[in-house]
Amino acid sequence: MECLFCRIVAGEIPATIVRETDNTLAFRDIGPKAPVHVLVIPKEHYADVATLAQGDPALAGEVLATAAAVAEDEGLLGDGFRLMFNTGAYGGQEVYHVHAHLLGGAPLGPMLARDLG
Ligand code: AMP
Ligand code: ZN
Repeated sequence: MECLFCRIVAGEIPATIVRETDNTLAFRDIGPKAPVHVLVIPKEHYADVATLAQGDPALAGEVLATAAAVAEDEGLLGDGFRLMFNTGAYGGQEVYHVHAHLLGGAPLGPMLARDLG
């Protein structure tokens, strides 16, 4: 099995898991970009959010529900947070197993590093 996140689901690679449901897994990002940085994935392999949402919208909803539960657990509901799916080359996606980045715990700054000026 080559997919990094499928290997985390299989328990072959360690991760700090913060929530698990029948169909989803949430674990801390290894290189956190904010005080709270959790990745939320479906256990089943889909390459990106478009493939997931078109192939299994209910599972996409479960990923969102798990992200919301983690946001609540981490105390992010009051001050807010960002939920982000990097997708494809322009989106800067590095791992091609769909994952939501849940970011929070401090003001996150502008949505993008640059604007169109
Ligand atoms: P993306 O660029 O959206 O594909 O994000 C991939 C994310 O996966 C990055 O934020 C990495 O820090 C994170 N990552 C890579 N390997 C691991 C790992 N073994 N455990 C947890 N997070 C990881
Ligand atoms: Zn995978």
